Amino acid sequence: MEFDNHCVFCKIIAGEIPAAKIYEDDKVLSFLDIAPFNFGHALVIPKTHCHGISDLPDDYRDAIFAAAAKIAPAIMRATGALGFNLLMNNGQVAGQEVPHAHLHIIPRFVDDKVLLGASQKQYQGSELAEMQAKIQEKIAARNA
Ligand code: AMP
Repeated sequence: MEFDNHCVFCKIIAGEIPAAKIYEDDKVLSFLDIAPFNFGHALVIPKTHCHGISDLPDDYRDAIFAAAAKIAPAIMRATGALGFNLLMNNGQVAGQEVPHAHLHIIPRFVDDKVLLGASQKQYQGSELAEMQAKIQEKIAARNA
């Protein structure tokens, strides 16, 4: 279990700063986001310091997803939400502010206008096939 003295989420795990905890087991902690997109927005974090999905040990990765699958329906029942987004920002450019891996569970309501983003792009000509081949090659080389 890694611990980073400067990490706000490690401090929450250690009990050094408070959080509204909703679930905890040996590998996972979940608490309410302090600045929610919708009320009931929760974070699910591994109890080990790592930056994102790619450096997260397999057992912690599996544990946070398993926990999220249990917690999300409970948030829906508690809030009356009709659905939820399961979201993980990886890297600053993707909007990650806290560099300790975490899943967001964001309960969703009709017309709540949360997470409205840019319009989707369209591949032209052979671009889709080229992208497919490039990513497959990187996966095969295990350095994606
Ligand atoms: P991200 O942008 O994916 O790194 O998300 C980080 C999230 O952590 C944001 O939604 C913040 O509101 C939330 N956050 C930061 N500090 C705390 C804290 N002390 N307690 C609860 N949520 C926090």
